[in-house]
Amino acid sequence: MQSKDLLQLAEQFGSPIYVYDAEKIQSQYNRLTKAFSKVDKLRINYAMKALSNVAILQLLKDMGAGLDTVSIQEVLLGLHAGYAPEKIFYTPNGVSLEEIEEVNAMGVQINIDNLSILEQFGTKHPNVPVCIRINPHVMAGGNTNISVGHIDSKFGISIHQLPHLVRIVENTKMNIVGIHMHTGSDILDIEVFLYAAEILFDAAKNFKNLEFLDFGSGFKVPYKKDDIETDIEELGKKLSKRFNAFCTEYGKELTLIFEPGKFLVSEAGFFLAKVNVVKQTTSTVFAGIDSGFNHLIRPMLYGSQHHIENISNPKGKERFYSVVGYICETDTFANNRRISEIKEGDILCFRNAGAYCFSMASNYNSRYKPAEVLWLNGEGHLIRARESFEDLLKNQIPLPIAATV
Ligand SMILES: *Cc1c(COP(=O)(O)O)cnc(C)c1O
Repeated sequence: MQSKDLLQLAEQFGSPIYVYDAEKIQSQYNRLTKAFSKVDKLRINYAMKALSNVAILQLLKDMGAGLDTVSIQEVLLGLHAGYAPEKIFYTPNGVSLEEIEEVNAMGVQINIDNLSILEQFGTKHPNVPVCIRINPHVMAGGNTNISVGHIDSKFGISIHQLPHLVRIVENTKMNIVGIHMHTGSDILDIEVFLYAAEILFDAAKNFKNLEFLDFGSGFKVPYKKDDIETDIEELGKKLSKRFNAFCTEYGKELTLIFEPGKFLVSEAGFFLAKVNVVKQTTSTVFAGIDSGFNHLIRPMLYGSQHHIENISNPKGKERFYSVVGYICETDTFANNRRISEIKEGDILCFRNAGAYCFSMASNYNSRYKPAEVLWLNGEGHLIRARESFEDLLKNQIPLPIAATV
């Protein structure tokens, strides 16, 4: 996508808006499937919590993706978008037995991540095909907020509890068809991934009826210039070979599953906001935009750095700015960032705004959530209208006029 297209969309649909480039999603999808083309049975389940607009789900469905969901509401959205139940995986954390049973009744593959629920579910439903989430305890992430594989993590069944796990499966005679791991976002080092994979292969040998191995996700995409990214091609080469060898050893052709979110949609997304005010203090020039952490919280929540460009003045002289929001709390998107000269009314473009951006948006300060636009075949399609005052009032119930304390 080019800046002039983005600028035109901001004019057409107003600001702030999220724009997603369909072609980029497709090319990332193709990259992943190509990297693992040596594996006969490969399945990509899109982790929809990254970006859950129904139009995006439809787009990925047409590419051949399945869906990875973490709540029953995501399952419902997936079904609504037209996914067959057998194309949907449910890999929640710490949900109730009732919710797991309800999702199972819809024909969706369930994944259980703790021994307590596993035992209860297995006792009640011994014939249901179940996947189990293992925690290999590998420190894969670059940030304690997002590396979920370490020893104190709440995610998955600890690999050290494997004997207990096997005993539960034997006692209940439940049907384990898959083993899963998800070592967390932002894997920098593919050797770490391969190491965790070995732990999964080892665990898998304890189960005789497996149909698939699910390696989760956590692929890193570049945010800053010269940022490191997961070398998918290299990982594909090494893991495919190891996976195929394991299948031979296991005596059965298994399906290899990945469930990427960020890798598929992060770079496809652009967040466009207008500069309301340029404020010069003694030490800093602030660019205040018509948005805040209510629309894009990653910089404040994770300290993540989204590249910012002034697309209204791309060739302007570069100066240093702190880009801040309009929320009545500190909400700094960027500190002392080199951006081409900003005037009030300019449109700033935030990169990597596809994953965990709109999906984490809120109505804090009673602001409306932004519109979303899909750029497809050279045209912008509105895929979510900007909210309106009715949306703020929906579900609110005023007191009767006469009520007083
Ligand atoms: C969030 C999540 C993913 C996707 O992670 P990304 O880093 O966006 O690729 C995959 N699997 C599970 C179980 C998740 O919770």
